[in-house]
Amino acid sequence: VSHQRARAEVLLEAVDAGFDDVVAFASQTVQAASVTGTEGEVAGLYERWLRDEGLHVEVKTVDAALRDRYPAMAQEVDLERRPNVLGRWSAPDPLVAPLILSGHTDVVAPGPSELWDEDPFSGSVRAGRLWGRGALDMKGPIACALLALHALRATGHELCFDVQMQCVIAEERGGLGTLSALVTEPEPSAVIVLEPTAGAICPASGGAVPFSLNAPGQAAHVCVPWTGHSAFEHAIGIHGALVALERDRNARLSHPLFDALPSKVPFAVGQVVAGEWHGTVPDQATLKGRMGVLPGESLDDVRAELVEAVATYCASHPYLADHPAQVNWDNEGFAAWETDGDAAIVQALRDGHRGAGGDGRLGAMTYGSDAGHFARAGHPTVLFGPGDIADAHLKNESVALNDLRFAASTLALALARYSDLVQELGA
Ligand SMILES: [Zn+2]
Repeated sequence: VSHQRARAEVLLEAVDAGFDDVVAFASQTVQAASVTGTEGEVAGLYERWLRDEGLHVEVKTVDAALRDRYPAMAQEVDLERRPNVLGRWSAPDPLVAPLILSGHTDVVAPGPSELWDEDPFSGSVRAGRLWGRGALDMKGPIACALLALHALRATGHELCFDVQMQCVIAEERGGLGTLSALVTEPEPSAVIVLEPTAGAICPASGGAVPFSLNAPGQAAHVCVPWTGHSAFEHAIGIHGALVALERDRNARLSHPLFDALPSKVPFAVGQVVAGEWHGTVPDQATLKGRMGVLPGESLDDVRAELVEAVATYCASHPYLADHPAQVNWDNEGFAAWETDGDAAIVQALRDGHRGAGGDGRLGAMTYGSDAGHFARAGHPTVLFGPGDIADAHLKNESVALNDLRFAASTLALALARYSDLVQELGA
């Protein structure tokens, strides 16, 4: 333990020493705006950083033939201009397969720039935070991993496994970059996906069933609405039935890592379309949204619950009983996943978290990410990154510098600890 404490001191000092350079680099990567489809420039920055750090760097174009296997990824064009960048730190005598640190290089669009307090891609550092689209999701988090690697290398640490930093494209549209890396790269012994987890170590993430629902109605002049049936009002009623389903699911389902969340299986509608003209009662309404899924639940079972809730509501409704709403599935959704809490990588992250001044707490996220691709491929996977996902994909995106420092420290200590645990297990 005293050895661990001495090592922690050395590593935390190295994180502090490298911090300003890494924040300046993170700022540059925010400025290299990389909305999905335009990751080329920032890929070049990561390539240069990893080379300067002394890692073995490979720049790999995602194979268009792989994309063509996923109908939902038809938008991923220009692949030769937006490669994955892979940096490897090789161990002299690896005892286990590589550890992957996974970060995506793309960001979501900033939306109208007049909503932002400054240029969405300013990358400015002020008031103790890094600002701009991607600062939190996830260029700040990637910078934490780069700083952790730098701290370990600068202090002469040797690990008993290779570390591969994967800077991958297209996560925000489904993760073609990671699907490619799963094909081109050797199997890992563990994966840390650097998405924001508000400082918790998350060995689980919920899934989601996306749906689109058409409620029918009958048009009428709005001055005599009683001569028609408003599809909009029907949609509101069905929405209420789905809120009740979510409430029922939350009451009946339990999972230790999800129980503290406001909803274990978040239901939300993201798009409502009804009517074409303010003077006509709408004869069609569409709701598009998602129902959350817990680890252990099948997507098909959740779809069946959703269909049943809609059918039950319609059956008791004077108009919808004869004109029931239709539920459609826009895409296959994504399954929930969970890594065993006893896995060495989970233990290593908890110990690293405590060594950096945290409490080693576990949590779970409710979003889809590249972590799902790794977990479904059977690899022990954990989400860990600075900042709160609730601040991502919005205007004025930012991440606290203190959170970056803590995450980098945790990662540096966790990698060293994972090396200990691998040796202990092997001995
Ligand atoms: Zn992300």
